Parts: sequence; C-alpha cells; structure tokens
Amino acid sequence: MFKELFSTDIVYCKGVGPKLAEVLKKEWDVNTKMDMLYKFPFRYVDRSKFYKIKDIASEDAYIQIIGQITEFRTVGEGQGKRLMATFTDGENSIDLVWFRNFNYFHYKINTPYILFGKPSVFNHQYNFAHPDLEELKEGVTPTAKGLQPEYNTTEKMKKVGLNSKKIRSIIKQMMPDVQNGIPETLGHDMLQKYHLLNLTQSILNIHFPKDTQTLKLAQERLKFEELFYIQLDILHRAKLQSSTTKGYLMPIVGKMFHYFYEHALPFALTNAQKRVIKEIQADLKSGKQMNRLLQGDVGSGKTLVALMSALLAIDNGFQTCIMAPTEILANQHYETISNLLKDMPLQVVLLTGSTTAKQRKVIHENLQNGEANIIIGTHALIEDNVQFANLGFVVIDEQHRFGVSQRAKLWSKNINPPHILVMTATPIPRTLAMTVYGDLDVSIIDELPPNRKPVYTLHYSTSQRQDINKFIVQQVELGRQIYIVYPLIKENEKLDLADLENGYQYIVEQFPKYRVSIVHGQMHPKMKDAEMKDFIEGKTQIMVATTVIEVGVNVPNASVMIIENAERFGLSQLHQLRGRVGRGAEQSFCILVTRQELSKDTRKRMDIMVSTNDGFRIAETDLLLRGPGAIDGTLQSGLPFDLKIASLAQDGQILDVAKEAATWVLEQDLNLSQPNHAVYKQQLAKLKRTTRDWSEIS
Ligand code: ADP
Ligand code: MG
Repeated sequence: MFKELFSTDIVYCKGVGPKLAEVLKKEWDVNTKMDMLYKFPFRYVDRSKFYKIKDIASEDAYIQIIGQITEFRTVGEGQGKRLMATFTDGENSIDLVWFRNFNYFHYKINTPYILFGKPSVFNHQYNFAHPDLEELKEGVTPTAKGLQPEYNTTEKMKKVGLNSKKIRSIIKQMMPDVQNGIPETLGHDMLQKYHLLNLTQSILNIHFPKDTQTLKLAQERLKFEELFYIQLDILHRAKLQSSTTKGYLMPIVGKMFHYFYEHALPFALTNAQKRVIKEIQADLKSGKQMNRLLQGDVGSGKTLVALMSALLAIDNGFQTCIMAPTEILANQHYETISNLLKDMPLQVVLLTGSTTAKQRKVIHENLQNGEANIIIGTHALIEDNVQFANLGFVVIDEQHRFGVSQRAKLWSKNINPPHILVMTATPIPRTLAMTVYGDLDVSIIDELPPNRKPVYTLHYSTSQRQDINKFIVQQVELGRQIYIVYPLIKENEKLDLADLENGYQYIVEQFPKYRVSIVHGQMHPKMKDAEMKDFIEGKTQIMVATTVIEVGVNVPNASVMIIENAERFGLSQLHQLRGRVGRGAEQSFCILVTRQELSKDTRKRMDIMVSTNDGFRIAETDLLLRGPGAIDGTLQSGLPFDLKIASLAQDGQILDVAKEAATWVLEQDLNLSQPNHAVYKQQLAKLKRTTRDWSEIS
C-alpha cells in the first residue's frame, strides 16, 4: 500500500532498527520510507559485462573481472604499509592493493571471485585499490547484473554500517511496495504533454534501472518534477504579486528624454543599450510595477541606461534615486551624471556619509519639495530620514552589496512601490537567474561599446617575478597605472593582510622611483578614500589593494591588473577584477600570478581566464566547477533550496520545459483551485524553501 510508504517510520523498515533510523534522520533527514525513496543514487556502475585483464584500457570506469587470487604479500612499513595480492583471470594477472583495514582480511587464495572496481595506474601499470570481491559459488554460472546504484553516504553513516551497499539493500526491499503503485505528483495531462515517465516507474528505475534508456527517462522525469515545482512556486508568487500591486504609470517619452538623446548623448547607444531601454520603457507604461535585473559586463554602459530610464521617470513627473554600494562609486556616478546633464534644467544631488549636516538639510528640503530630480547616494539614502515629493524609480547598482532590509525600506518612500532596476556586473548564468531571480525580469547588455580593446590576460608563476617586474617598469614608463590585488578571504584575514603588507613593502622596495597607494578593508574610510583619490588623480602609479577595489571603480588610465595568489579567487571574482582595466584607449593587461604547482581545477580556471573575456562563459564554467554559491555574493551559503537530482549547470533544457509547463498551469488557473490542480497545490505546500522573497525587497 502506498499509504504505508508515506506514513511508515523508517525505523520499521526491514534491516533498519532504532540505531540506524536515528542516524538516517540526523544525517539524511529521512523519516519515512518515502523520504528514503527520494534519496537517489549519485552514480551507477555497469555490471553488465565481464572484462579480461588484457582489455583494461582506461582509469575511467568501474569494471568486473572473474578470476582468482594466487598470493598475498605485505609491502612497506608504518604509514606506507599495505597489503598486495596477485589476481589472475587465467591468462594475465594484475595487482590488488589495500591500504588499510587489512588485519581482518578474509579473502582466500585460489578461490573464484568476481572482482569489481576501478583500475588505477601505479608505476606505469594498472592495479585495483580496494576492489570488491564476491565469491563465486561452485556450480553457479556468473551472471551480469546490469546497472548498480551507488549512494553517497556521510562518514557518520558509514561508521554505523550505512554504506552504499546497505542503503541499496534497504531500498531494494521497498521495491515491491513501489511496484504496487505510488500516487502521481504531476497531472496526467502534464505527463502526456511532455512525454514523462510516471512516478512509480521513475522511482523503480532511478534505483534499479532496467536499462540505460529507462534510467534516462526516470532521471528526466525526476529532474523535471524538481525544477517544475521551483518554477511553479516562483511564478505563482510573482503573478499573484503583480496582480495585486499597482505600479506607477509612466507612458510619456517626453522633453527631457528627447533633449538628452538628441543633444547631450556623447556617443551612439549600442544596440544592446537601445534594446534594454525599450524593455524598461515598455514596463513603465504597463501599469505594473517593474522589477528588473540588468546584467551587463563591466564597462558595458549600464550607467547610461540607468540615466536614460531616470529621464523617462522625470518626464512623467517622478523623482529617481540611484544607490551605489560605496562612497567612491556614488561620487563617480554623481560626477558622470551631473556632467552629462549639465545643459539641462535638472537638479542632481549627492547624499553620502560625508555630506555635511548643512548640505543635508538643503538636500532634504529639495527632495521633499520636488526640486531635486535625481538623487545619487549610498546607504545614507535609505537610512537617513529622506522624504520624497514623488519617488517613482529606483536604480540599485551592484545589487549584491546591498542588504535585504535596506532595500525593503525603499518601499515606504511613496504610496505605491517605485519601479526597481537592479544592475549587476556579475554575469549570472541563465539557469541560475531563472531559479533564483525567477520573479525578476532580466535584461542583458551583451555588447561592449565599440573600439574597446579586449584585455589581454597572461598567467605567470611566482618564479617569473623578474619578468613581471620588468613589465611593470615598462608600463609605468609608458605613463600607465597598475593595480596589484591580493586576496582577502574572511577565514584568514590576518594572514591575508600580512600578505598584502609584505607585498606593499616589496613593491615599494623594488620601485623606489614610483609612488604606491595601498587600500584595504580595515583602513579608516577617510584614509582609504584619500589613497583611492591619489590613484584616481594619477598622483600614484601603483595601487596595492585587496578586493575592495572590485566594485565599479573607473580609472581609465589604469591598464594593468596584477592578481596575486590568483588560485585563491573564484572565476567570477577574477573576471570582476579584470574588468577594472580596459577602460581607456590603451591596450590593457591582466596578469594572474599563481604558484607553479596547481590542481587540475585551478589550472582549468586560469586557462579559461586566459582564453576568454566572455563573462557569461566564465560564469557558466564557475557554476560547473564550484556550484551556484560561487557566482553571486548573496548566494555564498548556497541556493535557497536543495536540488536532489537536477543540476543548474547541466539541465538548462529541462529547466526551460519546466518553466513553460509551470506557466501553462498558471495561465489556466492562477489560484490552482481547479480539482485537477489540487496535486500542485499540495506539492507546493510541501516545498520546504526559504526563498528570498523579491516581492518584498525589490
Ligand atoms: P558599467 O556597465 O560597468 O557600469 P559604465 O556605465 O561605467 O559601465 O560605462 C563604461 C564606459 O563606457 C563609460 O566611460 C561610458 O561613458 C562609456 N560608454 C557607455 N556607453 C557607451 C556607448 N554607447 N558608446 C561609447 N562609450 C560608451
Ligand atoms: Mg557601473
């Protein structure tokens, strides 16, 4: 009975008992038999045929061989002590090796076994480390077994005997119950429309696949289901939200926008900029509140898009607020924007921590009486008791530096929530954006302004220090400025700071002729700004810094970015840092400095940095190598939900279909109140998620 599967405590499962049940609950959050069935294998091993030793040709796959052990011997001393055996299939022989636990050894010589394991190469020869050996009973012909599931269990589980084999046997004996049928979690019309395997067959085959084709169908169905419910949840909330929240109507493209476009714009917009402005314009006249994420690589011209959107709001009688994560950035935005608008009858004001009380008073007044049209600032903008005459549009630059509660305050600044444009230079892979920011509309600037020379990236090891130094001299003599960046990773701040200070010392000694700035997060903000300013104004030639310079700063004359200990940075971060250069007319360079010996993954990361400037490709690779937490600062602690089987790096196509399916359901029935949609409502309620609710923060 399927009811039994849902309600039976795992403790009553044959072969489990109180002790194992407790560990299963603690380690895997498995309480019922059904929970257990949703613990999927992490891989399958092919036991469908028998190999001969002479046919072993790679270290890639698990294989099985029939043969016998002819002798045992112990090799080495102390830590290096190990047990070796010679195993023969009658024609050839191969070494088996065990590194631990061989005191209790129970395998016998000259007895037929099925050996099962993954070959590895040692001293230019194949061997097997810790293979599985299964005795072949006399008179029994060995049969090939097909695909066998393997489960990833934790150390604590293994300690009490809950290894892959044990899990397999627990699940195996639940299969007859499953065979009787378990209730569907997707509608029948859905199964038909998307040609999905039913749940019963999927659960049976995900654990004990009939064959590889059926396994694939089972995987697809379960991945689809997982992604479908995430999409349904996000879209359901977003649609409910937009059906109840009013947005300010801004239908006019008026004087300010036109004047700017025709007379003040210093260059032609790129096609991507034009497209995004049109997307925003369409939102503004829709009557719905806009929540839009604008992604564009560093230097792609997001500021201009923000400004031109602000002009649209102004043309419709609204004020705009632009928030930047740092004071330096707010200052830069203020200068850029005031300069672009200098011939227009508009008031642009700046509000940061350094604004004096006197200035502040005037600004507050002008915001309240509506004379100020655009206000640019930092956190001070929201933390202050700032009141607007009619705030209608908010731009948040580099969103991941802003806290959730800070953004929430914005909502209270006017009767209706303002339109929100969140801008980020961190390319977020499409699949991640769809699942994490699924309720935000996404615009992408995928084109740099013309005549940009791509940054040239090189990878050096610390042993090539002399070459790097020569290069620094050569570039400074050409009149360029140089960044040298050290990692600052919270876990070991002291050590990182020491690295930075030693680095600074070294640079000062190596280049006595040049002036060197230093910036890090633990400096007093005033000191930091002064050092930064010296560099921006070209008074210093070299800037030694931690990643505090990562966000947005624009120094066009700085054309060399040297990243020390580059192996300790994630790809997205390296890409962000590289974006600090390449902003002027000169050829720019990024030099990644690492130690000589690198792991395979690290080498891959350096190689991709050297080979491409495409932020999206880099982010996709980061997603693949390090998972979703690597991409976006706000996701350090991982996704707001667990994925059991689907992968955001690999299942983009299934995700697209899942999104389409969720939209299909909601278009028929936004409240999920039709009887045939009861199953969706039920499953949604079960989703244990702590999604960041964008409807509340932006
Ligand atoms: P980001 O997207 O990193 O914020 P910015 O808005 O700071 O980029 O723009 C980077 C530089 O490119 C600025 O100096 C800006 O004036 C310039 N720029 C922006 N749009 C264009 C364009 N269409 N043509 C030429 N230069 C542009
Ligand atoms: Mg910017």
